[in-house]
Amino acid sequence: MTAVALTSGSFGSSDATIESIEGWALGAGSSLPGLLLIRITDSRGLSGTGETHYVPEACWASIEALFAPRLLGRTLSDLGSFFAESLSALRRLVGMGAEYRALSAVDVALWDLAARSDGVPLRRFLNNDSSDAVTVYNSCVGPSYTSTARVPGDGNFDLTDPRDDYAAWMSDAGALAHELVDLGFSAMKLWPFDALAKRVGGEVPTADQLEEACRPLRQIRDAVGDQIDIMIDGHGLWTPAGAVAVAEACSVFKVRWIEDLVLAHPLDGLRTLRANTDLPILASEYLASVEEYSELLEAKVADIVMIDPTWAGGISHGMRLAGMAAEGGLNVSYHDCTGPVTLLAGATMASAIPNHDIQELARGLFNYAYPDLVDWDCVLRDGRLHLGDAPGLGIEIKADLSERQGISYRRLDRR
Ligand SMILES: [Mg+2]
Repeated sequence: MTAVALTSGSFGSSDATIESIEGWALGAGSSLPGLLLIRITDSRGLSGTGETHYVPEACWASIEALFAPRLLGRTLSDLGSFFAESLSALRRLVGMGAEYRALSAVDVALWDLAARSDGVPLRRFLNNDSSDAVTVYNSCVGPSYTSTARVPGDGNFDLTDPRDDYAAWMSDAGALAHELVDLGFSAMKLWPFDALAKRVGGEVPTADQLEEACRPLRQIRDAVGDQIDIMIDGHGLWTPAGAVAVAEACSVFKVRWIEDLVLAHPLDGLRTLRANTDLPILASEYLASVEEYSELLEAKVADIVMIDPTWAGGISHGMRLAGMAAEGGLNVSYHDCTGPVTLLAGATMASAIPNHDIQELARGLFNYAYPDLVDWDCVLRDGRLHLGDAPGLGIEIKADLSERQGISYRRLDRR
């Protein structure tokens, strides 16, 4: 059975109340300057952790203005209606941007708190038959990928950093593929057409330009054959005609999916792409509302549905959207590349739903950037993320994070 909403019983029979909300905006100079981590603590001292990404100051301002007044002092058993009433409020103030990302962060923290109240891992709280590990693919980036990103698709790389998978596939994708196969990965994602898209404004490139952009794909197939699946991300940078040309160029490499070559909203671009390629199409982490996903599913223009838990409504809607995809016969994949809570929230839901495809995991962030921010008990081994047995998400914000230079720490207390 799959729970899709927090209910009055989710927090047990406790009459504990929400006492504080803390926020950490990591700021310029950090590896993840777009990240806002939050923690919600109750009168028993139990906490839940959440996060969201992009414009963290606006997201914190939304928490302070819109959600803290609805949360502080409120009894846990009264929180069953919190998400629905908050979403209803956002609908009436045109709040489906930073405000909705903030609500997504809060929702993840409340689910974490609910599972901790019950003393069980969140995946078992969602589904008692959840699995303990999920298969992941490596999104090929380095520790500094989001250090300069203002929007998706502007990721950074460091050619001098041997840990940087983005730099690695740009110089020799075959060597990187070898390494990943040896580590047990079954799939890898890269975006070899992004630079070209920016150069040609997303319009149809020349055959020579496409041939050159395909070099990493050739290197992978030459090095390891079909031992690893390849996913291509386009970060929504192509026009429909440009996307069709890129898809055609990809088809000889038998890629596992093409992702966001065009933006998924409006749907015209995906309709054009669907009509002109047989490659599996994934869409899209850039959608947020249930209505947007509903239109995507009704249009039948995607084969796999990507969901970002901390942009698209937290656990509450991350589970609901997966259920909607299942009704349409589609699998889902949850997004990584923006922060540790997003990754664990996605992997947790992935382990609890029947229609999971494969979880995104950026090992350049997982191995180096995320452990600088949080403690957790999950382990990456043999191409799978093994989830720990700690209650809730099993994640704790580092105790010294508030005191670190450049980090903005805020705390709101019940008055
Ligand atoms: Mg993507």
